[in-house]
Amino acid sequence: MNHIQNNIDLRPYNTFKIQAVAQYFTTVRSSTEAQALFASEFFKREKHLFVGGGSNILFTKDFEGIVIKNEIAGIRTVKETDSHITLSAGAGENWHAFVMYCVSQDLGGIENLSLIPGTVGAAPMQNIGAYGVEIKDFIDGVEAINVTTGETTIFGRDDCQFGYRESIFKHKARDKFFISSVTLTLTKKNHRFNVSYGAIQDTLRLAGHNELSVQAISDAVISIRRSKLPDPAVIGNAGSFFKNPSIPPDLYDFLKKSYPTIPYYPGENGLIKVPAAWLIEQCGWKGKTIDDVGVHTHQALVLVNYGNGKGEKIWELAMNIRRDVKEKFNIELQPEVNVI
Ligand SMILES: Cc1cc2nc3c(=O)[nH]c(=O)nc-3n(C[C@H](O)[C@H](O)[C@H](O)COP(=O)(O)OP(=O)(O)OC[C@H]3O[C@@H](n4cnc5c(N)ncnc54)[C@H](O)[C@@H]3O)c2cc1C
Repeated sequence: MNHIQNNIDLRPYNTFKIQAVAQYFTTVRSSTEAQALFASEFFKREKHLFVGGGSNILFTKDFEGIVIKNEIAGIRTVKETDSHITLSAGAGENWHAFVMYCVSQDLGGIENLSLIPGTVGAAPMQNIGAYGVEIKDFIDGVEAINVTTGETTIFGRDDCQFGYRESIFKHKARDKFFISSVTLTLTKKNHRFNVSYGAIQDTLRLAGHNELSVQAISDAVISIRRSKLPDPAVIGNAGSFFKNPSIPPDLYDFLKKSYPTIPYYPGENGLIKVPAAWLIEQCGWKGKTIDDVGVHTHQALVLVNYGNGKGEKIWELAMNIRRDVKEKFNIELQPEVNVI
């Protein structure tokens, strides 16, 4: 039986560095350990929450139930051909360390996703993405344990119902399945690089890279991210708080009349994606601080805890931002962060 601790401070387990107490807390280091826990009467009785790196969670209150930290480690080769390799990584592996492992072996595909905090297991949850790349394009399967039956299921890529920061694990499968490993296929040669973001091209040029490589792109992404995003080790945050909204073209045309500089990107299904950071900034929120929480001075999409901020204050701030954006633009922002 897993060792279960009582009344554990969750501050070390969330990058917002919010103080909240877990009534019960345990870690799992293997699928067998997880299955044993799920089969216990104790688990069946209590509410549960899975955490990896806690980099996409906002605690607004103490957690009455059991918090289960995933520490399933291990990377193994499932299949290898002349051109491709399929790797399976334990869900508790650190995502960035996994990317670095792939980069060091010149395996191509996920280099644009360097330096995203968190675990491998949470990556499919919101289909992590950055600089034009999403993890969904490399996923073969997500192995997950049904917490009710203890059975292991493989969700194929299509079963995962991936979308922009979306998957089945955020909806129908939430709390019902515990992700134990993720299988991805990467290229060994003839890599297909994505340098569609101008910032990557500029950084590569400045660094004097004439030829593209997995390593060079990863280095460029890391340097851009370090210059743009607050480091959670220094200032509590969970990255982008809201998703970038997609709006119908007629609303975009209407807004463009009043706001000629409104930026946009093509969205899915003929919709138009507008950067949430721009909308928030237009409402005057960038750099605002209230009760030790605030909107980052350089990144309006990132809400921060300056030290002793409370989770409910961050949520209150988020709701005030949402109200103002709705009033000004008739656009409803949706949180990207999982609010507990
Ligand atoms: C500075 C910063 C920058 C970021 N940049 C990006 C970015 O560029 N792109 C991006 O997509 N995201 C970004 N994020 C968000 C975050 O890094 C990702 O969402 C990451 O995948 C979260 O991983 P985690 O292990 O920390 O998940 P957690 O925060 O621990 O959990 C997130 C959710 O997944 C659930 N969960 C966790 N593990 C499991 C499991 N094994 N089985 C089932 N459910 C599980 C949790 O219950 C929770 O609902 C950023 C965050 C920060 C702090």
